[in-house]
Amino acid sequence: MENIVQAYSTAVRKMIAVQRRIIKKIYNTPDLGLITSLTRACNAKCNMCAKYNQNSYLSTHMDDETFQKTIQIYNELKLKYMNLHAMGECLLHPRFKEYMDQLEREHFLVRVSSNGYLVDRHMDTLLKRNIDFFRVSTEGWDNESMMKYRGQEFDRVYRNVKEFYRYYKGKKTRYQFSLTLHIYPSMAEDNIRQMFDLWGECADRIQVSFPNNPSLNLEKA
Ligand code: SF4
Repeated sequence: MENIVQAYSTAVRKMIAVQRRIIKKIYNTPDLGLITSLTRACNAKCNMCAKYNQNSYLSTHMDDETFQKTIQIYNELKLKYMNLHAMGECLLHPRFKEYMDQLEREHFLVRVSSNGYLVDRHMDTLLKRNIDFFRVSTEGWDNESMMKYRGQEFDRVYRNVKEFYRYYKGKKTRYQFSLTLHIYPSMAEDNIRQMFDLWGECADRIQVSFPNNPSLNLEKA
């Protein structure tokens, strides 16, 4: 029995590796490490955000001319994988849907990360077949804790993410919807358990990480 399980998992690993090679060949990345920031604006105030390390952080959206130029550069590089996982909340961009439509027409795969606050405005866009990856990063188990770690209203983020997960279930997507939760030293064991119980109902998988901004004082965080 053990041998069968081992052979099966080896076969699955090989199949995934072949699929990755095909995707990489077609879309020419994700190894290149090019990241596009649609906006530097954000509707959260995360303790660990690297923007607090910058003296002159600009909270502006990318303008249309720059976006079109960005697509042109990707095309010149024969790169068809756009990673929108950058500092700033990409769902805040006023032309987010329009740009995702354009990227779909131009056969781009897209990687999206969000803090979840505006997911309700973009449910269908986030289910497009060319979205290769979508995840929400968040923390908290009630309003007080989410305000402390993210500066956001818990009820809104939780309702949005839960609704999205319900809507996403059963749809055909390229990705498995995931959540990233950060663990801070100031969180008690009971809080962490409560946080995982709540968010566990809202995603296919949960990734856990420690906030890694070097300027964050983890003794106090
Ligand atoms: S959601 Fe991202 S960009 Fe916005 S404050 Fe948090 S870490 Fe920074």
